[in-house]
Amino acid sequence: MKKLILSFAILALAIVACQPSSDEVVPTQQTAQIDMSDFYVYTDAGVSKVSSEAKEDKCQSMQVLNRQLKENPGLENRMFAIEKHTRTFIAGKKPSGNPGGGNGGGGGTTPPPTPYTGTITIPVIVNILEDSAHPVTQANIDSQIAILNDDYNNNNGNTSGVPAEFASLIANADITFTLAAVNRKASTKSTWGTSNAMKDASQGGWDATDPAHNLNLWVCEIGGGILGYAQFPGGALATDGVVIGSDFLGENTAGGQYGHGRTATHEVGHWLNLRHIWGDGRCRQDDFVTDTPSSDRSNYGCPSYPTVHCKSNDMTMNYMDYTDDNCMYMFSNGQNDRMRAIFASGGSRESFVLP
Ligand SMILES: [Zn+2]
Repeated sequence: MKKLILSFAILALAIVACQPSSDEVVPTQQTAQIDMSDFYVYTDAGVSKVSSEAKEDKCQSMQVLNRQLKENPGLENRMFAIEKHTRTFIAGKKPSGNPGGGNGGGGGTTPPPTPYTGTITIPVIVNILEDSAHPVTQANIDSQIAILNDDYNNNNGNTSGVPAEFASLIANADITFTLAAVNRKASTKSTWGTSNAMKDASQGGWDATDPAHNLNLWVCEIGGGILGYAQFPGGALATDGVVIGSDFLGENTAGGQYGHGRTATHEVGHWLNLRHIWGDGRCRQDDFVTDTPSSDRSNYGCPSYPTVHCKSNDMTMNYMDYTDDNCMYMFSNGQNDRMRAIFASGGSRESFVLP
């Protein structure tokens, strides 16, 4: 969503910065340039159901985030800091390197984070709570890793279906996923819900393995029609990672239209700090990405192009929508910038790229 008011806000702040009164605290250049006014962490219940035809949330990441914000008062501030770091990183990538005024040549400016420019490698620990009614095979696991690698390297076989309007926005995130370990134990529950019990050995789950250096992926029966959920950057390390319903891991006929591994692609997108593409609210609520269109709802099934909401064409083929697995096949360049930001210097997942 494009924020037309941003430049005005920057201009206003710049004017304030240039004309301080004697007892005023003068903002640094960085604070003047980074507008955080639209940032939000809490979302309303039923965030994807603003339209009458919208269906249930197949992803519970935002609901889990709401709960964790209540449980952990420090989380909101941590997420604010991560978002500010992300926006500073993205502002620093622009040609001027200093949008909104000033030339950056003066003293006291905090430099933007240094990008990590190489391929990012993410070791994946698959933690399975086995349920004989919903078996998870090695083929499911291997195909999931292959699908993640296709999707995060712009190698999805359906990408040719991206309409011309969005073709120049397709990103290659250049992230490689490797299978580091598979842990299996019999499930003690028929459904695990979203309480994170599957991440706790004392509750019958698997404790996370070194989450500062591995993506922990729990596979279990979640229940309630939920396909998966993720924890955003900034949350507790012990619960860091993504949870995928057993029927939806990799290529899996039990998953039907969601049996082609895109639940993990979507949830890993949240784990890499992407919001839902419609911004979990009405038209003006943003996903903090400039090159994704405004929308006020999730899309389902396999929409024909164009699908118009908020006076623009929805990017329904984006992994961060709710469409069928075979009907989502791109990240945008703006989303890629957000993902790259957390691996840049000072980023919340920089530990993955440090020696
Ligand atoms: Zn989601």
